[in-house]
Amino acid sequence: MEEKTKKAKVVVVPCKSYEDGAVYAAMRQGIGLLGGLGQFVKPDEHILVKPNFLSAALPEQAVTTHPAVIRAMLRILAEEGCTNVLYGDSPGHGSSAAAAAKLGLAPENTYGAAAADMSQERRVEFPEGLTAKEFYFCREVTEADAIVSLCKMKTHALERVTGAVKNVYGLVCGYRKAAGHVKYPNASIFARMLADIQRCVKPRLHIMDGIVAMDGNGPGSGDPVPMNVLLFSQDPVALDTVFCRLVHLDPELVPTNTQGEAVGIGTCRGEQIEVLIPRDASADAGRAISMEELVERFGNPDFNVDRRGTKKTFLLRYSELMTSLAKRPRIQKDLCIKCGVCVEHCPVPGKAVRFQNGRKEPPVYDYKKCIRCYCCQEMCPRHAITAGRRHDRRREKES
Ligand code: SF4
Ligand code: SF4
Repeated sequence: MEEKTKKAKVVVVPCKSYEDGAVYAAMRQGIGLLGGLGQFVKPDEHILVKPNFLSAALPEQAVTTHPAVIRAMLRILAEEGCTNVLYGDSPGHGSSAAAAAKLGLAPENTYGAAAADMSQERRVEFPEGLTAKEFYFCREVTEADAIVSLCKMKTHALERVTGAVKNVYGLVCGYRKAAGHVKYPNASIFARMLADIQRCVKPRLHIMDGIVAMDGNGPGSGDPVPMNVLLFSQDPVALDTVFCRLVHLDPELVPTNTQGEAVGIGTCRGEQIEVLIPRDASADAGRAISMEELVERFGNPDFNVDRRGTKKTFLLRYSELMTSLAKRPRIQKDLCIKCGVCVEHCPVPGKAVRFQNGRKEPPVYDYKKCIRCYCCQEMCPRHAITAGRRHDRRREKES
């Protein structure tokens, strides 16, 4: 008898507000439809809840996982008897504590979970790695039995989007993240390294905050856009694939999807993904929904994301080469406050962006040195840096 291939399951729960009760109910429903929390963690385990804390930002900026989603997860873990729970992330800039404080997370509203420090590193060897053989993770990662990843639905200059696969990069400690961009210098190699982190730490559960997503100049300087959904899966590639379909982006244009599938952490093939939605607002039961119906009901064709390119292998390589040649970060001078955060975060030895005359003028780029990692664009606190192709700029000037 022919054996049926098991499909990756992705649960999509509509949720239109960050009101605590609404988010908690939606989270309960999503985890329930995926089989219940007991499928993923045990009460006596040390659990690290890992949101996206890119930088210290207010909830409404959509830079981070919303605190209501984090609180709901911590509440559910507490209600299920989990007493050894930490939450935190290693942000690109600043500390986990500063990001948590900006979101209003505090001992009185985090259900007994402790804030993780995430500032001390531990070297972890990973001989099974296909691209990366070692990592410098935050200490808490190495001490956790289980990781629950709470990613944010956002655009990303390097990988087009950031979701479940990319969220694990925050487990790498502090400045080691910038060094990783030099070591894995293009979108495909970087995506393969991310897939190795996934293989190494194996998050038990991925939940995506897409209630208000970020489009445009993400992951730090884009625009909040309501998508009104929470996504749940054990398969990070399948989850990101559903995200792509919701924003009308071909999933095979996203290196974290294609490379993730290539190294076996999940699937980006629609026919191998089963999408479930709740039968109704109160029901514990779900119903399967086709990708077409899902996109029709919950998708957003106006989501501002880079949809250009081709998925054919040769042309993909060619387009990546063209991207590295043409997609340049640039500074909008009238927004720049000359803080130097971009210079500080540029990982290239000798810096590919720097001040020329003290701080009288905004920093300037050396595009010959620039490896197009977009750390400067991610970290600029004034949203003054965009990444675009040269013909985009010509069009801007002409309009
Ligand atoms: S980080 Fe942004 S605001 Fe600060 S110097 Fe660089 S471009 Fe200017
Ligand atoms: S200038 Fe910006 S994009 Fe270029 S290497 Fe430095 S941080 Fe990366």
